[in-house]
Amino acid sequence: MYQVDAVTGIVSTLGEGPVWYDGTLHWVDIAEKRVHGYNPGRAEWSSLQLPKMVGALVPREKGGWVIAQETGFAFLDAHGRVEHIADPESHEPRTRFNDGKCDPRGRFWAGTMARNSERGIAALYMLDVHGRVHVRLTGVSCSNGLCWSSDGTVMYYIDTPLRRVDAFDFDPETGAIANCRTVIDLEGEIGIPDGMTIDSEGNLWIALWNGGCVICCDPRTGTVVERVPVPASRVTSCTFGGEDLGDLYITTARIGLTDEELAEQPLAGRLFRTRVGVRGTPAVAYAG
Ligand code: CA
Repeated sequence: MYQVDAVTGIVSTLGEGPVWYDGTLHWVDIAEKRVHGYNPGRAEWSSLQLPKMVGALVPREKGGWVIAQETGFAFLDAHGRVEHIADPESHEPRTRFNDGKCDPRGRFWAGTMARNSERGIAALYMLDVHGRVHVRLTGVSCSNGLCWSSDGTVMYYIDTPLRRVDAFDFDPETGAIANCRTVIDLEGEIGIPDGMTIDSEGNLWIALWNGGCVICCDPRTGTVVERVPVPASRVTSCTFGGEDLGDLYITTARIGLTDEELAEQPLAGRLFRTRVGVRGTPAVAYAG
């Protein structure tokens, strides 16, 4: 059994996108337009209010952050100032940006999702280190979990309603993806795959929305090898953090739960932490 503890007093309506950087766990509350930070070493936490919904944030090598907000890619500084970069879907009111992460060479990948569950109108984009946006996938419904193998040659990806994890050959030099194949089929799971991270042994840790757990899957065999129950049904994402990268941090949501469900899961929306006996890989910062 895993001991899964709620950390910080922060409650998110839709907690998402955890990233460990510089001794601090950062995550977003998409619905409340906030960025949160928790430094366990100093037992300090902080929150930043933004003007728009923010789906994901990644640190920037030059300092500050890059965010995927509902109106596209932007820089964010420590004081909450937002500087617009580009919005590839400015023509499309039915979508907003969602999950994102940097590839091994420091390009920022982030995808969009339909605001009202429409299928196939979203996409996956790559912001290169020169600030240019490239379309990488179209026909997406709800772009979510992204991570790369430690040798940088495979990209793993989740389009949530498809209930599976796909793998692509990844070219670290160009950021091109090819040869899509399904490596994990989650059709039989309770809940649907949301955010995802990879450990140092190459296994994938996948948050299950409405599944009340994080599962660990081996993409080489397609099997579920571990299951971490979380005291909240809407588990949104996870990442490894802590000094040894051995703490698994898990974000959750309260959004859309009935009063009855909220009474049954009073910790919904909290940030959780557990130890799963394996280490993660360090977050990559945006290199532009
Ligand atoms: Ca998500």
